[in-house]
This record gives sequence, structure tokens and C-alpha cells, in this order.
Amino acid sequence: MRLILLGPPGAGKGTQAEFIIEKYGIPHISTGDIFRKNIKEGTALGTRAKSFMDKGELVPDSLVVEIVEDRLKEADCKEGFLLDGFPRTEVQALELDKVLEKMGVDLNAVINIKVNPEILVSRAIGRRICRTCGATYHVVNNPPKSEGVCDKCGGELYQRSDDVEETVKNRINVYVNETSPLIHYYEKRGKLVDIEGEQDIDVVSEDIVNALRG
Ligand code: ADP
Ligand code: AMP
Repeated sequence: MRLILLGPPGAGKGTQAEFIIEKYGIPHISTGDIFRKNIKEGTALGTRAKSFMDKGELVPDSLVVEIVEDRLKEADCKEGFLLDGFPRTEVQALELDKVLEKMGVDLNAVINIKVNPEILVSRAIGRRICRTCGATYHVVNNPPKSEGVCDKCGGELYQRSDDVEETVKNRINVYVNETSPLIHYYEKRGKLVDIEGEQDIDVVSEDIVNALRG
């Protein structure tokens, strides 16, 4: 399975990614996670990316594309992969097409998770993430059994620094202006699968499996 998860910030991409990679046994490639890891490790890439991420802006295409290209060349991507949060611009989508062509492979589907903007803000603000395993929770919609502690690994939960109202609103605008044209891009290529994202997490997962089967 070679898949892309598309959708605005807070749509549920990371949440569904946890399920999809387990179900299909493919690696999860989240450009946001890669940048956050680089920030934590204090790399030059992390320092550059942070200045854009803190404002809710996109990191420049030139920085993103190379990272993804290198990652897709790794052995674990041979049988498939799940791209989460990439591509986010038409330039990135065109570059990805070139990379896949060089690899001699094609996408199976682009899963477009649809959620209305009013809901996205509260989803992102209430999001909590495990520092150890990266699992995603929500303080109201999907709380851990014990506050601040990951159910899966016992790790500490934290709130992302860009999950504050003003930054989230900017990220949603950036999505509308720069990323949403990709819906049409992949629709034209017959790859788009629309998923109703305002349902329970398990129902969204089921719809994804059914859509990929069909
Ligand atoms: P994205 O990766 O698209 O930014 P996440 O998967 O991190 O989004 O989800 C954002 C927040 O919304 C998280 O706190 C998550 O627990 C919650 N969430 C995800 N899917 C749903 C859903 N179907 N219903 C309610 N809350 C959800
Ligand atoms: P995410 O974890 O997907 O919500 O991404 C968090 C932030 O990382 C975004 O707001 C961007 O600043 C940056 N980012 C992640 N992926 C990309 C991408 N494909 N292109 C540009 N910026 C990105």
C-alpha cells in the first residue's frame, strides 16, 4: 500500500495513521514528526524549520522534498508507505510524482479526511501527544485512562507549541490556500478517496479500510 493522508490540521491524520500502519504493516512518514525530532535534537534543519512552524507557516518546499525523497529510498518503504502531512503544496506533489516515477511505483490512494473548520480548532487545542511513542490523544474526545500518561507505553503526554488558537487558525488558512488545491490535483488523477472525518475515530478507520478495499 502506497498511501497519502490529506486533510486540514486536526482532521485526524495522525490518529488514523496509527491504525493504518498497524493494519497494512507499512512505515509512517510524517514530515511534521521529522521536523519535531530535528528540533528536539537541535539540528540545523530543526532550527530552520522551527521558525516557520512556530508561526503556523509551511516550511519551504526545498527543505521538505529532499527529506521525503531520502526517506522513501530506505529499505522499509519497498513494500509501501503512508505519507502524513506531505505533500502540502503543488510543488511538493509534482516533486513526489517525479520521485515515485524514478522508483517505478505508483500511489494506491490519497485519503482525504474532511472536517469542518469550526471543529478543527478545538481538536488541535485539545490534542496531547506521547513524548515516548507519539500516540495521539484528546483531552475530551479521546482522553487517556490516566491524565497526562500514555495508555500504550506509560510515557508523558505533552501539548505541541503550535497547538494554540492563533497558530492553529493560521495553519487552517495556510491549508485552505496552499494545500487544499491538492484535492483537485489527486481527484484529476483518480487517486482521491473522500472520508467523512466528523465521525467516531473507529468509524473513520472502518470507512478508510472499506474505501481501500473497494
Ligand atoms: P492531524 O494529524 O490531522 O493534525 P490528529 O490525528 O492529531 O490530527 O487529531 C487532532 C486531534 O483530534 C487529536 O487530539 C485527536 O485525538 C482528535 N481526533 C482525531 N480524530 C477524531 C475524531 N474522529 N473524533 C474526535 N476527535 C478526533
Ligand atoms: P503537522 O505535524 O503535519 O501538523 O505539521 C506541523 C508543521 O510542520 C506545519 O505547520 C508546518 O510548519 C511543518 N510541515 C510539516 N509538513 C510540512 C510540509 N509537507 N511542507 C511544509 N511544512 C510542513
